Amino acid sequence: TEAWGPDDDEPRRHHGPVRVRVPAKINLHLGVGPLRADGFHELNTVYHAISLFDELTARAGDTLTLTMEGEGTGTLALDETNLIMRAAKALAARARVPAYARLHLRKSIPLAGGLAGGSADAAATLIACDLLWGTGLTREELAEVGATLGSDIPFLLHGGTALGTGHGEAISPILARPTTWHWVVAIADGGLSTPEVYRKLDDLRAGSWPPKALDGPDDLMAALRQRDPEVLAAALGNDLQAAALALRPELADVLKAGSEAGAVTGLVSGSGPTCVFLATDAAHAGQVAAGLNAAGVCREAVTARGPMPGARVT
Ligand code: ATP
Repeated sequence: TEAWGPDDDEPRRHHGPVRVRVPAKINLHLGVGPLRADGFHELNTVYHAISLFDELTARAGDTLTLTMEGEGTGTLALDETNLIMRAAKALAARARVPAYARLHLRKSIPLAGGLAGGSADAAATLIACDLLWGTGLTREELAEVGATLGSDIPFLLHGGTALGTGHGEAISPILARPTTWHWVVAIADGGLSTPEVYRKLDDLRAGSWPPKALDGPDDLMAALRQRDPEVLAAALGNDLQAAALALRPELADVLKAGSEAGAVTGLVSGSGPTCVFLATDAAHAGQVAAGLNAAGVCREAVTARGPMPGARVT
C-alpha cells in the first residue's frame, strides 16, 4: 500500500490510503483568565494527550467527501460545518491545491465531551491531507493553519504534555521525565457546549460567591517532574469545573463515585461533561473503571494512559 510519488524533488505524495491516529486531550491544569473585551478568555493550560483515539483515513478522490462510523454517527454533521471538511479546505487553500479527497472517520472520542474530539479530527485531517496531496508543510505551518480553526488543534498535532497559552493555541512542550500516568475516563450521556460553560463561569464570577480561581500552573509543572500520583493529584485543577457542575449537577455524583471507587483524585475534563480520574497503575485504573461502571453514574468508564503522541500516520 506504500506508493510514493516518482519524482524525489517533489514533496512526497502518498497514493495509497493515508491513515492517521489522533488522541483525545485532557487538561491537567485549566486556568481561565477574566473575560476580555474581545469576548475571549486568556488561558493558561497544561494539555495532556491520552490513549483514546480517533482515526482518519484519506484516499485520493475527485471531490471532497466525508463518511464516518462509531461515536456520534447520525448526530455529527458531515457537511462543510464539520471541522474535518474545514481543515481540509483550509489546508488546500494554504497550499493552493484542489481540496479533493475521500475522508473517512472512525470515531471513539465522544462529541462535546471536553476531550477536544473535533479539534483532534481536524489535526488528523491536516496530517493526512498534507501527505495525500504532497503539500509538504512543516508541523509548525500545519499548526498555524490549525490555529485558525480551533485553539486545541496545535496541541493535537503536537501531543505529549504541553503548556498552552493565549487561547490555548500557543504551545510549549513540557520536558518531564518520561512517566506514564494512568487515567480512568468517565464518558457521560450527552455533551456540554463549550461556549455555554464559559458563559456560566462568567456568571458565577459576577455573582456573590465566585469560585476561587486557580493559581498558575507552576505546582503542576513541578508535580510532573516527580513520579508520585499523590503529588500530581494535589496539583490538578480546572477553573471550568464549577461551571460544568453548575450546568450538570449530577457530575458531582460521578466525582464522588470515582473517589469511592478508589481513584487518587478526579476532575472534570476541559468544559466537561467527561470526568477523568487518576489511578496509581494500570491494574488500579481497571478497578476504578469497574467501580464507576458498577455505580452506573456514567455511560461508560474506560481506562487510558498518557502522555501519547499527537496526530501520526499509522
Ligand atoms: P473542546 O474541548 O475543544 O471544546 P469538545 O470535546 O467539548 O471540544 P467536540 O466534540 O470537539 O467538543 O466538538 C464540539 C462540537 O463541534 C460538536 O458538538 C459539533 O457540533 C462540532 N464539530 C464539528 N466537527 C466535529 C468533529 N469532527 N467531531 C466532533 N465535533 C465536531
